[in-house]
Amino acid sequence: NATAAADLLAYAPNVTHGLGRITEGIMARGSGSYVTYADGRKMLDFTCGIGVTSLGHCHPKVSAAAAEQCMQLVHGQCSIAFHAPYLGLVQRLLPMMPHPSLDSFFFWNSGSEAVEAALKLARIATGRQNIICMQGAYHGRTFGAMAVTRSKTIYSAGVAPLMPGVFTTPFPFWHQLGLEPSASTPALVEQCLYQLDLLLAQQTAPADTAAIIVEPVLGEGGYVPAPPAFLAGLRAVCDKHGMLLIADEVQSGFARTGRFFAIEESGVRPDVMVIAKGLANGFPLSGVVSRKELTDKLPPGSMGGTYAGNAVSCAAACAVADAMHEENILANAVKAAHPSHVIDVRGRGLMVAVEFTGAGLAARVAKKCVERGMLILTTSVYEVVRFIPPLNIAAADLAKGAEVFKEAVEEVVR
Ligand code: PMP
Repeated sequence: NATAAADLLAYAPNVTHGLGRITEGIMARGSGSYVTYADGRKMLDFTCGIGVTSLGHCHPKVSAAAAEQCMQLVHGQCSIAFHAPYLGLVQRLLPMMPHPSLDSFFFWNSGSEAVEAALKLARIATGRQNIICMQGAYHGRTFGAMAVTRSKTIYSAGVAPLMPGVFTTPFPFWHQLGLEPSASTPALVEQCLYQLDLLLAQQTAPADTAAIIVEPVLGEGGYVPAPPAFLAGLRAVCDKHGMLLIADEVQSGFARTGRFFAIEESGVRPDVMVIAKGLANGFPLSGVVSRKELTDKLPPGSMGGTYAGNAVSCAAACAVADAMHEENILANAVKAAHPSHVIDVRGRGLMVAVEFTGAGLAARVAKKCVERGMLILTTSVYEVVRFIPPLNIAAADLAKGAEVFKEAVEEVVR
């Protein structure tokens, strides 16, 4: 009840300052596109817990599957024996992969851990050590993932030295030039690929380079879709030099962009794919998908973790996969309405960014939205707010969100 929750807030100062937080209070319940706070505030949730609860809060089929699994087996431990939800999830994910060559799965808990595992796999499978990452990339807060993160200095400030052997290549920031990420960007894409060639000739020799890691849509780096020609260019460079292409689909995967995986739009085949977030709609679960031929090079025991591929999380993920098909979720992932007073609206599906001119504007708009009962996030070093609503959001709630956003913008820029 409200009093008990208010009393609990007395302990908030005992939680580390290292966590940022955009709202005060205690979240008590979630249902579909709404979250209710203990003090009675009901918020329209356009954050999905940072792109996680894509089927809405407490999706009945997902919660029921998890509850049922809780009564059967909570923790089996994947190095002791498989449990049915683990293999059931592999069975469901196999036909959803962007390419049939992606036939070997390994499940972890968080996106960061899965990125770490993907980097380890790349090093072991190629026998090479260096990794190339993108300008603006975000891959997580653990040491390896942090080492390939380029979206904000705060993530690694003060904690160096990080994992060595990481090189950064330019990402085509087409939106800065007022371009479209489609065929209209050949010069920009060519320039970025030329810089990558230079990197491989001047800084990290192909024979020392294991992989290129890329988000098909930059997430924490500003919701910038990679032009398909750029992804195709990365594939060609990897093929030429025997390097692996790692697609980090942690934020862009599971129908967020209107396709099961964002890389599908380019037709490019990744060698390794990292998945998490929408995979289990809120239960901690991530995964690395690759080719059996590559993962067979991993010595038994080199991968694993106490909670990796937890039975309840896997059961929830099986229900997510089923619900995505049954409820025709892909068809609903359409672009949100265009608000005014902005310099750019970009994204794919329901992974949409709105960029403003003017210092501090994005944060002020986000704050106004929260005051008006809608949760929304900013991202990256740009003046960007991002929309990550549930993929099954009702048209009326989407319109309501657009209206709240429009009012917030008008109030801030007035
Ligand atoms: N990769 C990408 C593309 C992400 O967006 C995130 C999380 N925002 C991560 C990796 C890290 O995932 P986690 O927070 O679960 O460790």
